[in-house]
Amino acid sequence: MRSWSVFTVRFRGIDLRVHITFLVLLVFLLLIEVNRSGPGVVPRVFGLTGLVLVSVLLHEAGHAVISARMGVPIKGILLFPLGGLALGDPMAQEERAHNLRRETWIALAGPLVNAGVAGATAAVLLATGIHGPWFPPAVSAVSLATSFFWINVSLVVLNLLPAFPLDGGRILRAWLARRMEFRRATRRAVSLGHLIAGLFMLAGAATSIQWLMLVGFFIFMAAQMEERAVMFQSVVEAVQMEDIMLTEFSILSPADTLEDALNKAVHCLQDDFPVVSGGDLVGVITRQTIVDRLRAEGNGYVQGAMSKAFEIASRTESLGSAFRKLTSRGLSLIPVVDQERLVGIVTLQHLMHSMGLLAESRRLRRQMEEKM
Ligand SMILES: [Zn+2]
Repeated sequence: MRSWSVFTVRFRGIDLRVHITFLVLLVFLLLIEVNRSGPGVVPRVFGLTGLVLVSVLLHEAGHAVISARMGVPIKGILLFPLGGLALGDPMAQEERAHNLRRETWIALAGPLVNAGVAGATAAVLLATGIHGPWFPPAVSAVSLATSFFWINVSLVVLNLLPAFPLDGGRILRAWLARRMEFRRATRRAVSLGHLIAGLFMLAGAATSIQWLMLVGFFIFMAAQMEERAVMFQSVVEAVQMEDIMLTEFSILSPADTLEDALNKAVHCLQDDFPVVSGGDLVGVITRQTIVDRLRAEGNGYVQGAMSKAFEIASRTESLGSAFRKLTSRGLSLIPVVDQERLVGIVTLQHLMHSMGLLAESRRLRRQMEEKM
């Protein structure tokens, strides 16, 4: 999924990407606050945006912890000012959404964390006795502590709306997916998300409360991205291995020495090789393994270095299914087999490239057909 992220940090194996809408939020806050209180307020506006980021991070930590507990570890999160979108395997998400109970718990975990944070902040504000958390205006650079309370309250309330891809919308989609196909359920949930986003923007325009418009805009953006991810997945399910496999490729024999193998690797662009003996596929090996083995143990045979734990795909298997086999076992090559004969290979290395070419060739074919 192409994601407009401004920067990425890795935390405990999870990629955290900050979406460009955080910059939109920063600029929006700068305009409003500087207009209201003058240029001296700028550092506080950065602080305020930081508080939104922290609140969203806590929210997402809630999802991630419960998700991992329920057996669906999250690989990456794209952070929006209203929450986050899970990155990575869309199939895992589909499977997750098919279990209404599990999806509901995971979805509720985020808002629950924010509710806890809001409660704790309110308690501290009351205990210090400076002023109550309801000190107006609700979210402003003037009082960061009160803002923190209100940011978290807002995250709870907004995320419980049935506006996909916010948490309430996810529960709604899981509920819809019980009675219809997943993609249709997603499309319905996205439509409602768009409708709610539109209502926010209208209400914002009518009352000139810019916040409402901004929230509508964020929901709209997030819904667009999620819909695209689901549609991308449906394309991946439609493409078959024979559409994209490499049919001209080099193979190695288990009896080849590692030096021979490296020599072959130099002369072709392949990073991964199937190992074939007497017409039978017996293993796979990567260029990296060849190099590592040569370095560590000197020359030897491909037989001793190849991996026998590989997966195969059939000609007509969908790219989605093959892709899941690859990623679930950390493989970079999948041989395509027809009646026990090796007919092609698909590697992560060439996948993106061949998907692009496939799209291009289909477009050209359609143009030709239109001309005829
Ligand atoms: Zn959430």
